[in-house]
Amino acid sequence: MEKLEILTYPDPRLKKISQPVKDFGKDFKDFVDKLIYTMYNSPASVGIAAPQVNNHIQTIIVDASNYKHKTNKKNHGLLVLSNPRIVAHDGEIIIREGCLSVPDYTGNVKRHFWIKVEAEDINGKTISFDTEGFEAVVIQHELDHLYGKLFIDRIASPKDLFRRKVYKK
Ligand SMILES: [Zn+2]
Repeated sequence: MEKLEILTYPDPRLKKISQPVKDFGKDFKDFVDKLIYTMYNSPASVGIAAPQVNNHIQTIIVDASNYKHKTNKKNHGLLVLSNPRIVAHDGEIIIREGCLSVPDYTGNVKRHFWIKVEAEDINGKTISFDTEGFEAVVIQHELDHLYGKLFIDRIASPKDLFRRKVYKK
């Protein structure tokens, strides 16, 4: 399988609003397989959203299970969420975020600490769960992509933006 090409800032296609998923058939599932493959084969990646590969449907992939962070005490492993919506939230958290579409920067972003999520699973069945800390942040970050928003749109001031160190071989 080949990795899908990831759009990078300032590509205007990252700003497009994604459409709800209604057809959970074979084409959709084939696309999800490629999206998962692309996420797992990108460096330090814990999530990806369909519009990042120029498919403007409301699907996100999240897997926080291999990431060490003090708030990542429990997580749900691999999540494939379509039409995700946050139906309740509580608290605040600030984590340094990065993004495959913004390879040169990381930034401190304020998010909800706890969220309750509703979404459709890979077969179109509606599911509901809650999560907190790191995994909740990743879900909020990926959900933003569906509405054309990047983490750099959410940083409070320039001092919260950091140039990523690139180590040349
Ligand atoms: Zn991102």
